[in-house]
Amino acid sequence: MTIRLQKLIAGSGLASRRKAEALIAAGRVTVNGKVITELGTKVDPARDHVKVDGKHLSAAQPFVYLVLNKPKNVMSTLDDPGGRPTVKDYLRGVSVRVFPVGRLDFDSEGLMLLTNHGDLAQALLHPRYHVPKTYLIKVKGVLTDEEIRRLEQGVSLEDGMTSPAHVKKIKKAEQNSWLELTIREGRKHQVKRMLDAVGHPVIKLVRVKMGPLSLDNLEPGEYRFLTDREANVLR
Ligand code: URA
Repeated sequence: MTIRLQKLIAGSGLASRRKAEALIAAGRVTVNGKVITELGTKVDPARDHVKVDGKHLSAAQPFVYLVLNKPKNVMSTLDDPGGRPTVKDYLRGVSVRVFPVGRLDFDSEGLMLLTNHGDLAQALLHPRYHVPKTYLIKVKGVLTDEEIRRLEQGVSLEDGMTSPAHVKKIKKAEQNSWLELTIREGRKHQVKRMLDAVGHPVIKLVRVKMGPLSLDNLEPGEYRFLTDREANVLR
C-alpha cells in the first residue's frame, strides 16, 4: 500500500501535514537516498526508506492529548530564550513530544491543550473553526450593563471589530469584579484589549474552557490526559 509522503511524515508525529510539506519542498526529505521535493510523491511505508534531515522516521506514534493548567508567570511555549519557566517544566512524566495548541500570556493562567497531533492542532487554531474559549476574568471596577452589551456585540480594536461574545457577571469584589467571557476568536491579547476598550483593565485572567474541554479540578501546574471521549470529540 502506498501513501503520500507528507502523510507518512505527519503520521510519524514529527510534524503536521503542512510542516511536512514544507520539509519536502525545502529538500530535507529523502526516499531511498534520493532527495524528493515533489509533494504528491507516493511511498510504501513497508518498503521505502524515508529520512528527514538524514534521520529515519520513527514508527508511527499514537496520538496523545493532554490538558495542563498553566500557572501564572510561565511561558506557554516549550522553550524561552530568556530562560523563564515554560509549560515544558510541568510535563514531567510525559514521554512523547507534545506541542501547545495556541497561547496564553505569561501572566495568564488556565487551560492549555497539548498534543502531538499536528494536523488537529492546526485545525483547532484555524479561525474557520471558531472554537469557543471561556475566560474567568477579574477586572478593575464594575461593568455597567451598557459596557457588557458593547463587549457582547463587538468592540473596536486596532485590528478591527470583535465578533459577538458572551458575558456573564460573576461577582463584585471590593473595587473590582469577576466576569466570565466567551469568545470564538483568538487574536493576540484579545481579552485584555477588549476589557481595556471598555475601560476595565484585566487584573487576572484564567482560561477555564476551550471547545469541549474544561479545567475541572486541575490545580495550577497539574495536567491530565484527555479521556477517549474528549479526544474523539476533538478529532
Ligand atoms: N486574551 C488575552 O488577552 N490573554 C490571554 O492570555 C488569552 C486571551
